[in-house]
Amino acid sequence: MTEYHLQRTDREITDPAEILEVVRMQAFMTIAMARAGVPYLATVNYAFDADRRAFYFHCAPTGKKVDVIEANPTVWCQILEDRGYIDGKCDWAYRSVQFPGTARFTSDPDEKRRALHVIIDKLERDPEAKRRLLAEANLDEVRVCRIDAGPFTGKKNLGPDAARRSARKPRARSTRLPRAQR
Ligand SMILES: Cc1cc2nc3c(=O)[nH]c(=O)nc-3n(C[C@H](O)[C@H](O)[C@H](O)COP(=O)(O)OP(=O)(O)OC[C@H]3O[C@@H](n4cnc5c(N)ncnc54)[C@H](O)[C@@H]3O)c2cc1C
Repeated sequence: MTEYHLQRTDREITDPAEILEVVRMQAFMTIAMARAGVPYLATVNYAFDADRRAFYFHCAPTGKKVDVIEANPTVWCQILEDRGYIDGKCDWAYRSVQFPGTARFTSDPDEKRRALHVIIDKLERDPEAKRRLLAEANLDEVRVCRIDAGPFTGKKNLGPDAARRSARKPRARSTRLPRAQR
């Protein structure tokens, strides 16, 4: 298969630390998937476990994305940091990261709990309180998906005043644990 590389090399994020910064700071990603040649996508809140190079999200036990991923675990993901409209330039500032991945739902209760801890630690204002609730929760009704990530590519367009924009604090993280299904 043809290997593609960014055509706008001037916009490529080459520093792995900067790629990880985008991955760590953002709260949700969009997962592209396909079943029998028919595409689908879902946006989910995630947490990244750097030691395992794995992403986790949780969801309701049934639904289209569950069926599509179970039929074909090969996915493609994008994480987007929205930096807003660049006034007067008809352009938009952003940093984004894409990667191929292999997705699977885990039934191992220990891995489920560990993944939910990673998500809670990332998103909750008071992770300890939520961790205590989780300790007593029945996890049968929650599905946890692990995405093992392939190589990351990063791209950015920070506009002509890039220095000022990159000094700006990235958008605050979400503090709300996502409901399983909306
Ligand atoms: C910022 C954000 C964060 C989210 N975080 C999570 C999360 O962590 N976990 C989670 O499970 N879900 C999350 N969601 C919701 C998620 O994107 C899906 O809507 C949801 O998971 C249901 O997906 P499903 O494939 O099971 O859809 P189903 O309920 O099976 O419905 C399938 C059909 O509904 C339509 N549909 C599904 N989702 C959407 C949508 N979002 N907008 C418009 N049409 C839709 C499509 O036409 C699709 O064919 C999030 C959404 C957003 C925007």
